[in-house]
Amino acid sequence: MDFSLTDEQRALLESVDKMLAQHLPADEVRRRDQAHEPPDFLLKHYANLGLFAIPFPDRYGGLDGAWQTVAVAHERLGYHAAMAASLYGTTLGFGGMSVYTYGSDTQRETLLPKIIAGDLRFSLGLTEPGAGTDAGALITRARRGDGGWIVNGRKTWISGADQADYIVTACRTTKGSEGNRGISMLLVPRSAQGINMTPLQKIGNNCLTSWDIAFEDVFVPDDGLLGDEGDGFKHLMSTLQFSRSGQAANAIGQSQRAVDIAVAHVKERVQFGRPLGKFQSVAHRIADMQTRVDQARFILYHLAWLIDQGGRCRKEAAQAKMVASECLQYVTHHGMQLLASAGYAIESDMQRLWRDSRLYTFGEGANEIQRDIIAREVGL
Ligand SMILES: Cc1cc2nc3c(=O)[nH]c(=O)nc-3n(C[C@H](O)[C@H](O)[C@H](O)COP(=O)(O)OP(=O)(O)OC[C@H]3O[C@@H](n4cnc5c(N)ncnc54)[C@H](O)[C@@H]3O)c2cc1C
Repeated sequence: MDFSLTDEQRALLESVDKMLAQHLPADEVRRRDQAHEPPDFLLKHYANLGLFAIPFPDRYGGLDGAWQTVAVAHERLGYHAAMAASLYGTTLGFGGMSVYTYGSDTQRETLLPKIIAGDLRFSLGLTEPGAGTDAGALITRARRGDGGWIVNGRKTWISGADQADYIVTACRTTKGSEGNRGISMLLVPRSAQGINMTPLQKIGNNCLTSWDIAFEDVFVPDDGLLGDEGDGFKHLMSTLQFSRSGQAANAIGQSQRAVDIAVAHVKERVQFGRPLGKFQSVAHRIADMQTRVDQARFILYHLAWLIDQGGRCRKEAAQAKMVASECLQYVTHHGMQLLASAGYAIESDMQRLWRDSRLYTFGEGANEIQRDIIAREVGL
């Protein structure tokens, strides 16, 4: 296993830094967070750098790149801002990897080039008021109509649905089915008649908009079925390693940012005649924070390596997401303590990281479920 960066990867990360320094500098991140204004315009810049092209084959306009490259680029975006990383994750994970992994040849040929060019956005419509962690309890229904499907039901907490071209929606298509069976994934055009969306207010991730969506007799043409009818849950499971890797990379990038902010602060802030970092308890706290980040990072890089080898990685995907999300909460919790009033101020980046961090231990599969998976994988 070699986790060292290639010259190409290094150059890509430098380009990401340069692009974000120009288009999303730190003060712009603060302004957008306070104004709840997602940086959607970045999509084209990501495409220009080839970020969406990395994991896809050349025949769709992709770069045939390694997942490890996706992971380090995603981590770097998270270092700049959660809002930058989540834009990448929803487009690549919910859109690109779903279409590529279980879409038809026609869907791949028509949609992947547009995703790679930064011309298409996607949301994932899975969660419902009665189906959160227990996604198999979903009741949104799609029945056969003339030339397509008719969708009725409700989804909630759907990220970025206002900007999405398609909502990849999990629907019950087999009448009378229960649990994980009889579910299909439909590419619901966001502009379809019968979709009513209400924004949800929340405490963090202000630039990842959240929506409650009512579907009332929404028509989806036959070619909107993504994957095999009735196998939607299986298809969702087949892309979890990608979305969990993305969630972990985003959390690790943010974690490193929190540590760097804390280090800069304790070097500069003087109390009792010396910088805070010269007190052993403070220095040890920083040492623990950085160690957590490095642990999470190595688990993520191991996961990316396994993905590139085509190996089984259910356990490692669950571990990467679990450890990274808990790392982010740990380092931002301690970061807030180290910065004290300076962190509590609304203009502080630490308070934003701390607020945003709360999502990651339950979003994208709650950590209780990640632990269930890990326990199962070791034979329990
Ligand atoms: C900002 C934000 C963005 C989101 N984006 C999306 C999106 O784009 N698409 C989408 O489909 N969903 C999205 N979600 C929904 C998210 O995936 C759910 O919040 C998550 O699945 C948890 O479901 P829940 O909130 O209903 O919690 P619940 O399922 O009610 O769980 C509550 C608590 O009980 C625990 N719990 C549940 N079952 C068990 C068990 N068997 N054993 C032990 N503990 C258990 C959970 O771990 C959790 O701690 C988003 C949510 C938020 C807040």
